[in-house]
Amino acid sequence: MDASLVGHRVRTLWGEDGDDVHYPATIVAFNGKKRKYKLMLHFDDGMDEPVGLPCDTIEVLEERVDACPCAACKDVPARLPFDVSW
Ligand SMILES: [Zn+2]
Repeated sequence: MDASLVGHRVRTLWGEDGDDVHYPATIVAFNGKKRKYKLMLHFDDGMDEPVGLPCDTIEVLEERVDACPCAACKDVPARLPFDVSW
């Protein structure tokens, strides 16, 4: 788990039993000071969430992006990685 993951698209599987849904997201930042949740995700609907990898419910895709396509970022395109803390 390192900064090279920033920009990768991911697919997360979250849901209750029988109601599993894949949510697309983008890794927008890396924070090496965190013990566990070193990566910040932006879900395409605009929500954000710190996560750690490897994770059973997060699949890192080969697809990469230069700017976050989520609902919260698309109107103000900013190149990744983002300078955010958590
Ligand atoms: Zn975003």
